[in-house]
Amino acid sequence: MPASIYFADLTSPRARALLDSGPVPVLLLPVGAVEPHGPHAPLGTDSVISAAICKHAALSLGDDPTVRAFVLPEIAYGVTRYSAAFTGAITISEGTLHAMVVEVCASLRAQGFGHLVIVNSHFEPAHVATLRKAAEDAGVGFLDVTRRAVAEQLTAEFQRGAAHAGRYETSLVLSSRPELVEAETMRRLPAYELDMPAAMAAGQTDFLAMGMDRAYCGAPAEATAAEGEETLATLSRLLVDLIRERVQATIRT
Ligand SMILES: [Zn+2]
Repeated sequence: MPASIYFADLTSPRARALLDSGPVPVLLLPVGAVEPHGPHAPLGTDSVISAAICKHAALSLGDDPTVRAFVLPEIAYGVTRYSAAFTGAITISEGTLHAMVVEVCASLRAQGFGHLVIVNSHFEPAHVATLRKAAEDAGVGFLDVTRRAVAEQLTAEFQRGAAHAGRYETSLVLSSRPELVEAETMRRLPAYELDMPAAMAAGQTDFLAMGMDRAYCGAPAEATAAEGEETLATLSRLLVDLIRERVQATIRT
């Protein structure tokens, strides 16, 4: 029984043993971004959230007799052009992101790890579209939180599309890495309602054009660790469902 839920913590023989016997191993690939999340939350917010979802799901499957999840080293960079006006935004191209995801997955699949799931928390359309394509090309799963069936299970603010560094995301960081949130600043921020998907569909291609002059929308002042824990439990459950679905699908064929 491996001592860690983190794939890169294992030795090579331990990793090999996962393929030989025991529960079916499923590898989770957290994907994030480095970009401004208001004046209160860290640049790496999306990575923090993806890592937290993967960790929660892997721990919850710890005693499962049929499937075991391991968290891969994350892909911490994404396509982040919307936030380019702010210090700290780091963008990579669609081609780079696609190649990174596909090559990591192909490398593992070639060794016999047939079950991989991408877990993403950065929702810029070009980034999400690239991951959808990469998941398809690599033949791996993708927990796509922007899909209606998934989004419907998340909080009201998220469903309204005000999902950047507001109550939803800030709560998730508060529940997993509270020391990274500047709480005093957070409490003083006025709410800024915005339907980001609608603004994007209307052709606005950066935060400033959307009126997000401090790189957030929604209501960060209302964020709580308790809400973050609840959301995390929901996201983890959705991920575990997807993991089981994928493992089942291949057992049948
Ligand atoms: Zn974010």
